[in-house]
Amino acid sequence: MKRTNKVLLIYTGGTIGMGSNPITGALEPLDFNHLADNVPEFKQITTDIDTYQFVPPIDSSNMSPKLWGDIVTIIADRYDRYDGFVILHGTDTMAYTASALSFMFENLTKPIILTGSQLPIGQLRTDGKENLMTSIELASTYKDDGTAMVPEVCIYFNGHLLRGNRSTKQNADEFNAFDSFNYPHLCEAGVNFTFHEHNILKPDFNKPMIPHIGLDNNVIIFSLFPGLEEHLVEHVLDAPELRGIVMRSFGSGNAPQMPWLMKLLKKATERGIVVVNISQCISGQVEMSRYDAGYHLKEAGIVTGYDSTVEAAVAKLMHLQARYKDSDIIRQYMKKSLAGEITIPRT
Ligand code: ASP
Repeated sequence: MKRTNKVLLIYTGGTIGMGSNPITGALEPLDFNHLADNVPEFKQITTDIDTYQFVPPIDSSNMSPKLWGDIVTIIADRYDRYDGFVILHGTDTMAYTASALSFMFENLTKPIILTGSQLPIGQLRTDGKENLMTSIELASTYKDDGTAMVPEVCIYFNGHLLRGNRSTKQNADEFNAFDSFNYPHLCEAGVNFTFHEHNILKPDFNKPMIPHIGLDNNVIIFSLFPGLEEHLVEHVLDAPELRGIVMRSFGSGNAPQMPWLMKLLKKATERGIVVVNISQCISGQVEMSRYDAGYHLKEAGIVTGYDSTVEAAVAKLMHLQARYKDSDIIRQYMKKSLAGEITIPRT
């Protein structure tokens, strides 16, 4: 692998680059110059940094599949020119973006590290500087054989490097905003970096990276709760465009044993909708055969999402739906790990 000693920093927006609106007082995204002015340390970094900024920068609540496609294009067009990529992104939807990108870059051999902050970079107690500086360093860390130390889409936040498609925003107030509850951290950044190499993906460095831009967002997230109303569920499942459902079930993948619910879910799977079963618990696996209340779901044609996050399941469905028309093929791929997003138990 040819090293370039260069990192591309993509600024999409988010709190890290925000300032207060003088009239409302609410935080709004400012352009990259504002951010760079607050980080004089940039000049001390030995890695060359080029920047690319979204115009206008956005609050990540406005992130979309179209913008994910734009990010993929920006990186794919410049893939050979950089050792790694850092994406500055709002924290609110960062886990969705990280999940989507992990599927959109097939056989990724370079680091793509998303980061942001809980306090704007212009504020004294900001967490933005450390998150930004460490992400740049992580994106340019290579092994002796010249291959990237972390050739995957990651989130770096508050000292932890996490697999992107395993991450979830866990806290809106504290600096430790993210965790990956079903997967160990890839690196701890304390005084030194402690990489957990056995947890990091190992792509084939001789194969080319293949970007996939298309996404099909005819997907919904459907959360079960006691008191679910039949007619409302029926309306949602009858939507003609609907192709995929991420169903957030109870515990290890259980649902209320109401005949109407099983009937509606079966009808949906029979008309080609892919229903993926994800637990509402933040940690643990779906195991539909453990309880009778889960076994019925299996019989209705519902696919296990194993220990996937909701963010990863949604992004994976969008990616697969754009690539395949046949729902059985999509179901098969949902049960496979494409980018380390699920743990498949040994049988
Ligand atoms: N609302 C902000 C965003 O996601 C929050 C943040 O960046 O922390 O863009």
